[in-house]
Order: sequence, then structure tokens, then C-alpha cells
Amino acid sequence: MRIAVINAGSSSLKFKLFDMQTKKVLQEELIEHIGEEGARFFSHHDALESIDVDFSSIDAIGHRVVHGGEIFKESVIVDGEVLFAIESLNPLAPLHNPANVEGIRVAQSKAPKTVQVAVFDTTFHTSMPKEAYIYALPHELYEEHKIRRYGFHGTSHSYVSKEAAKKLGQSLDSLNLITLHLGNGASVCAIENGKSIDTSMGFTPLEGLVMGSRCGDIDPAIVLYMQREMGLSVDEVDRVLNKKSGLLGICDINDVRTILEREDESAKLAIKMLVRRVQKYIGAYMALLGRVDALVFTGGIGENSEYIRESILESPLFRDMEVLVIKTDEELEIANECVKLLKNEG
Ligand code: AMP
Repeated sequence: MRIAVINAGSSSLKFKLFDMQTKKVLQEELIEHIGEEGARFFSHHDALESIDVDFSSIDAIGHRVVHGGEIFKESVIVDGEVLFAIESLNPLAPLHNPANVEGIRVAQSKAPKTVQVAVFDTTFHTSMPKEAYIYALPHELYEEHKIRRYGFHGTSHSYVSKEAAKKLGQSLDSLNLITLHLGNGASVCAIENGKSIDTSMGFTPLEGLVMGSRCGDIDPAIVLYMQREMGLSVDEVDRVLNKKSGLLGICDINDVRTILEREDESAKLAIKMLVRRVQKYIGAYMALLGRVDALVFTGGIGENSEYIRESILESPLFRDMEVLVIKTDEELEIANECVKLLKNEG
């Protein structure tokens, strides 16, 4: 069985083709700067058109979709209704979902007979209890505007939790794990008996850990202060919080590998803040879970930086923890979801 995976970002398109018998990647393409000035490709359509692949030989195309809202509790085969529902979620993820929809449309036009599957970043977290996903805000904000915690990086947390179960030789539904996806975007997930019960990202991927250029948890009154006292517009505040904060805001660089090579105080402070925030979340999730069978590190930082892992694990509270480092593979997780759906169909 051959499965293609498309991850369409606002200005990028990642393409992977898997042979699912061997789980080998047969073809891989990354096209960036789509639609930007002087770029090779004007649109996602042109970008996908440029990939030399015979779509008629592919059994399904899996699409990463960032936001599934409360509508999608599992991966789905895309039809007109599904596409309409995904589009209705655009206001919840204005930077991501429109690009994902565009990716699906382009793939449909290239391969009209091939099954298209949508796999959502939020699905894994739909098992969270209400006390985890409701914010302490007036309840109408949830009821009328769907303002709640959704959580993201679900395909990654799901993939590494399954791999952790294999490594530990136990069944996932009896395992309690804390999975740490530490990359440029970063999130922690508390997993009880194989299911997400809490996660650090919230209504959007801005909440939680100190990230490359995102602030993570801050006092929300700072947003009001920036607008009222500093006269920043809504778009300017958005840019500050999402693009100019986090490690970049503290020490002018968002790349952890480069920051670790520096000796200056602001670089040291940035790393200390990243580590401390992760430690706080692990401690909180230990309290929720009671028993933790393993801490699982993944993502560019989690997989590659022994220094960051060791610094996090310095807390005496984590001394006896089983620690696993597992390379994430979100595309393979999406391809596996396609296979599952095709089998259900057939
Ligand atoms: P990701 O978003 O998962 O690709 O992760 C990107 C982050 O991983 C960047 O901050 C990189 O600097 C960091 N990273 C990758 N390799 C290393 C490494 N060997 N040591 C420290 N950080 C690394």
C-alpha cells in the first residue's frame, strides 16, 4: 500500500510518500516560500503540480489539519461536508486551517479518484476531561464562542506514546506517560492509560511552554496593558506574542543549538527559563497522574539536546523516573491513520 502525506503550511508544503508494508519513505519533498516575492511557486497548486509523482498509484493521501475543533474526534475521509466543516473552523486557526484546506483542494484536483484523509492535531486531546479544557471565564465564552483548551501536536504525542509502549513492552492503555514535544513549537501532554488528560497548549498553540518565538504562559493582563498603555494594535500584539517572544524575545535568537553555543547572560537566562517552565509542567502532571511510567522526550530539542534533557531532569522530584528519547514521526502517524481508515472502509 502506498500512502502520500501532505502537510501544507501557510507558505510551505511538505510531501512524503510511504510504502506501508516496509514503512519506508519512497519520496520526500519540502517546498518553502510559496507565494512570497521572487519565489519559485505562486501557489500551493503550482507547488504540488511540480512534484513528480504518479497519483493514480497512491491508495490514499493523508493531510495534516491543525484544528479539528469539537467537530472531529478522530481522523476522517474527506468529502464535501467534511471540507465545509474544516473551513468553518478557520477562525480558530486563521494561519493554519486555510492552508490545510487549500492542500486538500489541490490534492483533490490532482488525484480526483484517490481517498483523501484529514488527520487533526487536536484529535488526540479530545479525551481531556472538562475540568482540563474549560477556562475559568464566563461560561458563555465556551458555549457561544467555543473558547476552550484544544491542545495541539496531537499526532506527535500520539505517535511517541505508542512507540514508548513498544519500548516498555507494555500495552499503551495501561500506561501513564508525560510526553514532551520540545521543538521550535513545544508542548507537554499528560497521558493516563494511553489517553491525553491534559496538555500545555490551549485555545491556540501559544499557551504553555517557552517556545522559539512564542511566549507561552503569561498574565493575560499584559495583553490589555500593551493595547491600553502602549497603544499597540491587535495585529501588533499578535506579532509580539507569536513571533517576537519566547527564546527570541529573551536573547534575540530562537534556535536552541545556537543559543547553547553562547556564553552571555541573556542566552543563559533563555535556557534557564525554558527548562524551568518544562519542570513546572512535569511536576504539575505528576500530581495529576499520581503514577508516571515514563517521561518521553521528542522534537528537535528533546531528541537531540542531552544538555537540555539533563537540565530538566536535575529536579530531585524526577530522580527515579524512567526516561525515553523517541524520534517523532508525524507524517508516519498520519499515514498509519490513513491505513486504519482504509481498512475500516474495506
Ligand atoms: P523542531 O521544531 O522539532 O525541528 O526543533 C527545532 C529546534 O531543535 C531548534 O531550536 C534547534 O536548535 C533544536 N535542535 C536541533 N538539534 C539540536 C541539538 N543537537 N542540540 C540542541 N538543540 C537542537
